[in-house]
Formats: sequence, structure tokens, C-alpha cells
Amino acid sequence: MDAYDLIVIGGGPGGYVAAIRAAQLGLKTACVERWRDDQDKPALGGTCLNVGCIPSKALLDSSHHFEFMQRHAAEHGITAEPAIDIAKMQARKQKIVSQLTQGIAGLFKKNKVTWIQGHGSLAAADSVRVVAADGTEQTLAARHIIIASGSVPMAIPPAPVDQDRIVDSTGALAFDAVPQRLGVIGAGVIGLELGSVWRRLGAEVTILEALPQFLAVADEAVSKEALKILSRQGLDIRLGAKVVAAKAGKKAVTVEVELDGANETLEFDKLIVAVGRRPNTGELGLDTAGIAVDERGFIAVDEHCHTGVGNVWAIGDCVRGPMLAHKASEEGIAVAERIAGQKPHVDFELIPWVIYTWPEIAWAGHTEQALTAAGRKVRAGSFPFMASGRARAMGDTDGFVKIIADADTDRVLGVHIVGPNASELIAEAVIAMEFGASAEDIARTVHGHPTLAESMHEAALATDRRAIHF
Ligand code: FAD
Ligand code: AMP
Repeated sequence: MDAYDLIVIGGGPGGYVAAIRAAQLGLKTACVERWRDDQDKPALGGTCLNVGCIPSKALLDSSHHFEFMQRHAAEHGITAEPAIDIAKMQARKQKIVSQLTQGIAGLFKKNKVTWIQGHGSLAAADSVRVVAADGTEQTLAARHIIIASGSVPMAIPPAPVDQDRIVDSTGALAFDAVPQRLGVIGAGVIGLELGSVWRRLGAEVTILEALPQFLAVADEAVSKEALKILSRQGLDIRLGAKVVAAKAGKKAVTVEVELDGANETLEFDKLIVAVGRRPNTGELGLDTAGIAVDERGFIAVDEHCHTGVGNVWAIGDCVRGPMLAHKASEEGIAVAERIAGQKPHVDFELIPWVIYTWPEIAWAGHTEQALTAAGRKVRAGSFPFMASGRARAMGDTDGFVKIIADADTDRVLGVHIVGPNASELIAEAVIAMEFGASAEDIARTVHGHPTLAESMHEAALATDRRAIHF
């Protein structure tokens, strides 16, 4: 029986990063991954690279360019009549995905991580059974095992996915034509991003959200502003609208929605089910090894991602916490380092969230509502992009930066952004908070001019009511 210091089950951003870090630290490491791409070729990278973060951002960028050409280029004195070639847009997306997934295979070679293709499960707490696509089986001994099996789209009984008329996020990333009428169930991160892609390309998009509040996880100021902007762009976002039935017909999909106590029937050409994701923890042999899952199927782990059984660890979307690629990767690095005898640390309080609509939405730390509910005295300062020279030059003046600081100590407790390039701007906030910065620290830091980042500087000044440009 082949023996490894570490076997990682799953080669997504949790698993492949853990494997590379472990190999860097001198551990004999294998990663078991069963994914097959659209050409039925084995591929690393998991959800993130194959059907998640990367392909969605490729389509978001392409559709953003189209919308710019169509709606905004004229303001810059540029006229053009853009046309869409979906086949080419999709081929570009797929090329980016293949380049990146092949890149991981290259990194495995460089770092001497063995990629074992097939389905992995625990034969015991110290051995992994792998079944290859052709049915051949092998059992491998492992001093440590990391489960990084990720998540899959959640299904709801009223709207069964057929990947034709009713699709999940994977199907929605692969449309070969722009649907005229597109329904989206769920106004979460994925629903908003995919709804934005197809709206920009010409679809009439209706987003149906069961909750009465829009983006309840975000700071209220951000969710209010985002709802206003996205609605103005043409996304028809209906809150308190619970989908109770959906039926795919030959020509359309009929959706029954419960809204204000009454039922309404809507018709779409395509329907995306984006109601969240569930941990992918079946068929892993967890019972065999005595590893517990909670009532929602997440593998139970402690703050170090240890399952409590032998040397078995679990990271990423299959354990508690936000389902985000960077959270999975940081857990992977930390577990690899702990196995190698180091004392790593992941700051779970400071995991940035990003929604890649345009303007983008990003935040880190606490919301003002959560802080107030916890009885904290805070001072908040906001700065609108309308007052930023750089944002005006770009023609991207929607949104603001909001910084929340402790009223007594001035320590930054939360930063919330809706605006252009919020995904990049939030990094400054995370670093500041990681170093325990005060709003005054950000206010005293020289920011280049003219930049969007100056809005962070101004928002810090605004916590003390001394913003210069607003
Ligand atoms: P996964 O990426 O799901 O990887 C798990 C891997 O394990 C898979 O490759 C699977 O094949 C493999 N596997 C599972 N079981 C076995 C087994 N028994 N044997 C062998 N292999 C197995 N997050 C962000 O941070 N930013 C974004 O912009 C973003 N955009 C997203 C857009 C979409 C449309 C979707 C669907 C998700 C998005 N996410 C985003 C979420 C992100 O993709 C996940 O949080 C991330 O992929 C989780 O990483 P992971 O390694 O835990 O799991
Ligand atoms: P997220 O978990 O961020 O991906 O968001 C998924 C969203 O889908 C949540 O806000 C849910 O409230 C919403 N949702 C779940 N089921 C339904 C349903 N049947 N009809 C409308 N919205 C739903």
C-alpha cells in the first residue's frame, strides 16, 4: 500500500492550496480529485476554477465591456455599435478556465504533489480508498487526511433543475444564447452576479427573493444603495417573493410565486435556481471513520479545522463559515502548516466578502447594525464616489465607502463599500483591520491622487466629521 504524509480529498481552492503548502513544507502529499471538465478530461481547481469564481468573473467582465460599449461609451465621445457573439464569449471563458486548471496541474508537478484521479473516501481514519473513472480501486495509507470536498448547488423541490429550462449556477454559466426573459430564484451573491451577466447582455431579468430584506448579510446602508442601483440598471428584484412551484414546458417555464399572501404566475424562457449551496459530504466514508456531520451536512470541526478523529481535518465549503474560495484556501494553508508543526492562525473575523455586480459590493468586519445591537458605541463615516475625482473621470460615480470605528478607541470595526473596484479597495481595509488600525491611522496615511482609494481616506476622515471633499 502506497503511504503518504498527507492525502487531500478534493482539489478545489481549499484542497489544492493545502496540498501545495504541505509539499512546500516537505510532506509527501497526494491530492485525490475526480472532477471532469466539459471535454470529459480530468481537471483540478474544483468549483471555483471550473464552474464558480473564475468563469463567472470572465462572463461578468465580458458583459461589463458590452454594457459599457452600449450604454456608456457615447458619454466618452466614442460611438460604436456592439454586437454579441455568445459562442466566442463562452469559448473565451472556457479557455481561461482550462489555462488556470492546467496551471494547477503544473504547480502540482513543480511542488511534487501527486494527483490521484478518482473518487476518494475514508477507508479508515488513516487510509483513503480511491475509485478511478474506469472502476479500478486502490487504498492508500495516510498519516494525515484533509477533506476538502466542497459544496454543490442546493436544490429546492418546487423548482427541479433539468439544466435546460431550469438551471443551476453551472447551467447559467453555459447558456449558448441570451434568454429573452430570465427568472432567478434567490437574490444572494450568485443570483445577483449571474442575473447581472445576462441582463447586461440583453435579457429581461426578474429576481425572486423569499426574504423581505435585500442582502440581509450586508450593512443596511450598502444593501439599500445596492438595491437602488441594481434596480435602476434594470434588474427587477422582487422581495418577499417565495417560489412555490416551477414547471418547465416546451417553450417556457411557468413559475408560481407567493407574494403578499397572494399567488402570482410568471413566465420565463429560462429559470436559474440560485438558492445557495450545500456541503458535499456524502459518499466520503465519514461514518466508517466515525466523523460527525451537523444537521445541514457540514463536517464538524474545531477552530483548527480538526474533526476530532485521529489526524483527519476538514476545510472549505464542507465545514462551517462562509462559502468563499479565499476562506477555503487560508484554512488549507493553516492546516498544512499545523500538520508540519507550525502554529498558524486564520482570522475568521476578517474574511472579506465581495459581490461582483457593477458597481461592486465588498465589506469586511462588522455591520453597523450588528455593532449597535451588541451595544457598541460607534462612529461611522461615509464618502460618496460622486465626490471622487477619479470616479468622475471613470464615469463610475455610484456608491460610497463607509467606515465604522469604535467611538472610544477609534479602532476600525467594519468597512463597507459599494462602488467601482470595491473588490480591490477592500484589501486596504482588511490589512488596516488586521493590524488593528484606527480610523485616524487610515486618515493619516497618504493615498495617491487621483485614485478610488482616496475615498477610503476620506471616509476615515468622515468618521471624525472632517472629510475634505464632501
Ligand atoms: P470546491 O471548490 O467545491 O472543490 C471541491 C472539490 O472536491 C471538487 O473539485 C470536487 O470534485 C472534489 N471532490 C469532492 N468530493 C470528492 C471525492 N469524494 N473524491 C474526489 N474529489 C472530490 N467564492 C469566492 O470567494 N469568490 C467568488 O467570486 C465566487 N464566485 C462563485 C461563483 C459561482 C457561480 C459559484 C458556484 C461559487 C462561487 N464562489 C466564489 C464560491 C467558491 O467557488 C467556493 O467557496 C470554493 O470553490 C470552495 O472551495 P473548496 O475547495 O472548499 O470546494
Ligand atoms: P445565498 O444563500 O446567498 O446564495 O442566497 C440564496 C437566496 O435564495 C436566499 O436569500 C434565500 O432566501 C433565497 N431563496 C431560497 N429559497 C427560495 C424560494 N423558494 N423562493 C425565493 N427565494 C428563495
